[in-house]
Amino acid sequence: MERKKIFLGEEEIPRQWYNILADIKMNPPLGPDGKPVSPEMLAPVFPMNLIEQEVSSQRWIDIPEEVLRIYRIWRPSPLVRAFALEKALDTPAHIYFKYEGTSPPGSHKPNTAVPQAYYNKVFGIKRLVTETGAGQWGSALAFACAQFGLECKVYMVRVSFDQKPYRKVMMQTWGANCVPSPSTETKAGRDILAEHPDSPGSLGIAISEAVEAAVSDGSGRTRYSLGSVLNHVMLHQTVIGLEAKKQMEIAGEYPDVVIGCAGGGSNFAGLAFPFVYDKIHGRQVAIHPVEPTACPTLTKAPYVYDHGDTAGYTPLLPMHSLGHTFMPPPVHAGGLRYHGMAPTVSQLVVEGLLEPRSYGQMATFEAGMLIARAEGIIPAPETNHAIACVVDEARRAKEEGKAKVILFNWSGHGLIDLGSYEKYLSGSLRDFDYPAREIEEAGKILAKYPKPQILKSR
Ligand SMILES: *Cc1c(COP(=O)(O)O)cnc(C)c1O
Repeated sequence: MERKKIFLGEEEIPRQWYNILADIKMNPPLGPDGKPVSPEMLAPVFPMNLIEQEVSSQRWIDIPEEVLRIYRIWRPSPLVRAFALEKALDTPAHIYFKYEGTSPPGSHKPNTAVPQAYYNKVFGIKRLVTETGAGQWGSALAFACAQFGLECKVYMVRVSFDQKPYRKVMMQTWGANCVPSPSTETKAGRDILAEHPDSPGSLGIAISEAVEAAVSDGSGRTRYSLGSVLNHVMLHQTVIGLEAKKQMEIAGEYPDVVIGCAGGGSNFAGLAFPFVYDKIHGRQVAIHPVEPTACPTLTKAPYVYDHGDTAGYTPLLPMHSLGHTFMPPPVHAGGLRYHGMAPTVSQLVVEGLLEPRSYGQMATFEAGMLIARAEGIIPAPETNHAIACVVDEARRAKEEGKAKVILFNWSGHGLIDLGSYEKYLSGSLRDFDYPAREIEEAGKILAKYPKPQILKSR
């Protein structure tokens, strides 16, 4: 009988992360003076050991023993063959997913929360401040901080704070303090509230609040932590794809198509970058980051320099961006409501190594219902974007009569997101119109920044 799940032993957790900066050229982040940011300029925000990782171009970076010890709580994660979905779609495709929902917070996010808490602890930091969209990142960092005895403060996007109260309870259970953003605690939050008292918040605003709160804490023992976008976050997530490669080898297959949903790009990168490495070295594989049509960063936005946050506190990052003042419609996939994209993922799109896709909210929930009924697991609304693309690819394989191998990242379960399923089931969920006017308006801000070079690594 063909195997349903492929497990690795604990001793087979990869010992090193894969750093894609060894294999691609990148535009540097720029400071307020328009010059490349120096590591020292980031020192009030991040500990120096993480800054060193952020700029490292060493291909393989050792995973510390202490991090491996905590990874063992849920890693290696299973690789699962979606036989029942294949049957439901009557497709000759072989569909595999890497299941990241087995972590304590229920998503891929602790893969980086744990090393980030570890490196901060080693550097002598006592307290981390962060933001969260749907609450997945906040709960992952709260979990990681509890493991290392760090204090944790989380600014949570208002619309999710109201829609998903149980994420807040998870954070509190792990000892973190969670407040809705925009808040009155920071200048960034107060400025937004003065103009928009009913602001639903956005990741961009919450990042501004968290950065401001971290940097203005006078103790010198507080730093900021980000759950996606940055190079070191993509690095930590590659543990997903490195495990998946070993597991696909055991299954005796290699993917024709690799798929992940993309908000800031980290779970996608985690699965995809080890396969991008193969692609750079001549292997044929189609790789799709998938995003909401309501927040179409890779499929519609230009490759530019822009801030990572709404107030403009962060350096200018070279990335696809809708403009840092863009307020995405309140889609239920809160983790995908971000105006920008990881610079590494953006660079790979520029180089033509990735082919981004987008789906409307209804299509993603239809795909989520289909897989929940076939495979049993209820996906996070973010993951449903990847699944919508998988379903399309499997149907295409059927039309073409090809036994394609499809691999996707099941970034998290949806058990804390049942409110959105309730809306879908009661018929009150809807698609948002493509926010053309808002995107045009927000994009205007980009004209004043320098333009990144179009770099080709090969
Ligand atoms: C946060 C989150 C995402 C989106 O973030 P990325 O950095 O793009 O991975 C996707 N899926 C789940 C389950 C999440 O929690």
